[in-house]
Amino acid sequence: SSWFTEVKMGPPDAILGVTEAFKRDQNPKKMNVGVGAYRDDNTKPFVLPSVREAEKRVVNRGLDKEYAPIVGFPEFYNKAIELALGKDSKRLQAKHNVTTQTISGTGALRVGAAFLSRFWTGCRDVYMPNPTWGNHVPIFEHSGLSVKRYRYYNPASCDLDFAGMIEDLKKIPEGAIVLLHACAHNPTGVDPTVEQWREISKVVKDRKLYPFIDFAYQGFASGDVDRDAQAVRIFEADGHDFCLAQSFAKNMGLYGERAGAFSVICTDEEEAARVMSQVKIIIRGLYSSPPIHGARIAAEILNNDDLRKQWLVDVKQMADRIIDARCTLRENLKKLGSSRSWEHIVNQIGMFCYTGLKPEQVTKLAKDYSIYMTQDGRISMAGVSSKNVDYLAESIHKVTK
Ligand code: PLP
Repeated sequence: SSWFTEVKMGPPDAILGVTEAFKRDQNPKKMNVGVGAYRDDNTKPFVLPSVREAEKRVVNRGLDKEYAPIVGFPEFYNKAIELALGKDSKRLQAKHNVTTQTISGTGALRVGAAFLSRFWTGCRDVYMPNPTWGNHVPIFEHSGLSVKRYRYYNPASCDLDFAGMIEDLKKIPEGAIVLLHACAHNPTGVDPTVEQWREISKVVKDRKLYPFIDFAYQGFASGDVDRDAQAVRIFEADGHDFCLAQSFAKNMGLYGERAGAFSVICTDEEEAARVMSQVKIIIRGLYSSPPIHGARIAAEILNNDDLRKQWLVDVKQMADRIIDARCTLRENLKKLGSSRSWEHIVNQIGMFCYTGLKPEQVTKLAKDYSIYMTQDGRISMAGVSSKNVDYLAESIHKVTK
């Protein structure tokens, strides 16, 4: 026998499996609404005009390919955290933040999980919304923390189960970690209102829970980077110390460039210095230093007024296209005479729509109509365009009649 005879075949990735099935399908009307990346109205990948221009400027500078520092480029990560907390953030002015560049949002979560795994002295359970982004679970479990759930989504109304969420948060043992999606919750597209965030923040504070905020879609939800940051800023204003994971995959379309940031908002500058020293040690052992190209592009945008302005227009354009696609899909379903309420399609926000389709309806859509989505009925609105929205509405109507 060899060294690895005991290794069992693992299950394929649920989302990548959808893309594989889509690729094999020969139907010219086929649709891939499984993948979580933005598409333009021709369902093609989209490189933001601001990113094209920033990249040109970076390349023209003829920079070398030396390693970045362990924590990345300060002209990137300082601007990243400022984007999240705002220019007037008191905690930033007081230097309470530890911020590092990371391998996109996943890397930020992973560094944070590793840091907490080593240094968190409270309860070692991480409470996540039910449901949550599939990768949250292995990211924290691989780091040696265990995962628990709080109620979040109400399948009956395709909306937030706010009462259930608060009830569950109040039961979480003191000193536990609670993971929150700052905006554009994945996979449900359901976010708390500002008022509800204030209450969530209060309960988290009263219960002495430690917030870990995942901020993967800033600007992508409403089209406005400040509006999407409201939840994070409420937590800052309420005096929480917290971890924050940021990604520039969606809002700058830098998916494969892996540009992200991880922050720990500490009690004071002295604590921040100690935490920073340990975060560096953790990153050194995980991957030494982050990739350079995507962070240079993002820094170019965030540090130059003309590019930043263009970027804000680009983000808004992406968000607006998605909001339009939601409205058209809902209108079409209405016109076709669907007896269901599809209000949630327009009430939900961000890249995803949790349709409420049953697994057998999802299977039928793939088999009979060549429309591919994840088994939970999640549609990536980014895959919906003015050209295929009619077909999508008709097909959904047929399987839900
Ligand atoms: N967090 C959530 C909720 C996400 O949906 C994603 C991406 O789909 C990420 C984090 C991280 O993505 P990335 O590592 O590409 O930045």
